Amino acid sequence: MNLYTYCLNLIDPFGISRGTRSQVEILLLNFDGGWGEAAPLAYYRETVESVTAKIHEFLALDLGDLDLVESATDRLEPGTPVNQSAKAAIDIALHDRYARRLGKPLWRLLGKAPRSEMYSSFTIGIDTIDVMLQKVEKAKDYAILKVKLGKDLEQDIVVMREIRAAVGDKTIRVDANGGWTLDQAGRAIKVLADLGVEYVEQPLVQGSIMELRQLKRMSPLPIFVDEDSIVSQDLPLLIGAVDGVNIKLMKSGGLSEARRMVALAHGLGFKTMLGCMIETSVGISAAAQLAPFVDYLDLDGNALCSNDPFDGVRMDEKGRIRLSERPGIGVELKKDVVLTPREC
Ligand code: MG
Repeated sequence: MNLYTYCLNLIDPFGISRGTRSQVEILLLNFDGGWGEAAPLAYYRETVESVTAKIHEFLALDLGDLDLVESATDRLEPGTPVNQSAKAAIDIALHDRYARRLGKPLWRLLGKAPRSEMYSSFTIGIDTIDVMLQKVEKAKDYAILKVKLGKDLEQDIVVMREIRAAVGDKTIRVDANGGWTLDQAGRAIKVLADLGVEYVEQPLVQGSIMELRQLKRMSPLPIFVDEDSIVSQDLPLLIGAVDGVNIKLMKSGGLSEARRMVALAHGLGFKTMLGCMIETSVGISAAAQLAPFVDYLDLDGNALCSNDPFDGVRMDEKGRIRLSERPGIGVELKKDVVLTPREC
């Protein structure tokens, strides 16, 4: 087992309602030939140190026959979702390892044909109105934009009017990262509906399920949650409160639980989107293996960075994702990249 630390540099500072980052430290795991990644997030009470310690703790367990990937990951800490990205790193590495040994791309082993056109949105982080408009201009080739809002309602409304005027009828989604009150969300969503936005993600702070029910009753737009849909146990609580859920490997603890979430979400009548954190091609390529199973994709975490150390799933200038025929999750360390081993 080799664990490495890597600092991703963002092309532009990346702002959401809770703050702005220009560098993100992630962990890369090579476990018996399979690559995995953890992207620790302070919001989910994770640090690089806590996740490093968890990965070491998990890998000291007897995981049984590593080819039985789901049984192996079931042996990792169940229950309270903390240090989920540590689980994700191991679960992704085990999936990659197994599919590589079989010489098949993982998506083929999962058995669902990709749609001919699978587009990811490209994310516009919060900044001044002028800078957000410059980012939109730079992203003009992408077919779908996801705009981060939720820091200042008045600015949100102004910037969305300007963006709509700038991009014509391009598909736009919005993510408030829990930054609005119920009243603010009601006001914002009316304007966003008039502007032809497709759907709104996490309008209210995590845990506001009763308020989400009220909002959904009056909302002209579909409402998705992200921070409120971490693992499959969260989904039944969302019935009647949302129209869709954002599923991410770093929240679910990897592909095994993400697959359970996709199946359950569809069974409960929710739309599904596959999202990501700021991650390398390892995390993004792993998530992309599930692309055929979900309704919407938001897999641009590596595209926001200038120094992705891996080649993996390809996204063209329009945001179209193509799954490769490379074995495993289809990643390869770029030539000349030297990863730094992470000590305990
Ligand atoms: Mg989100």
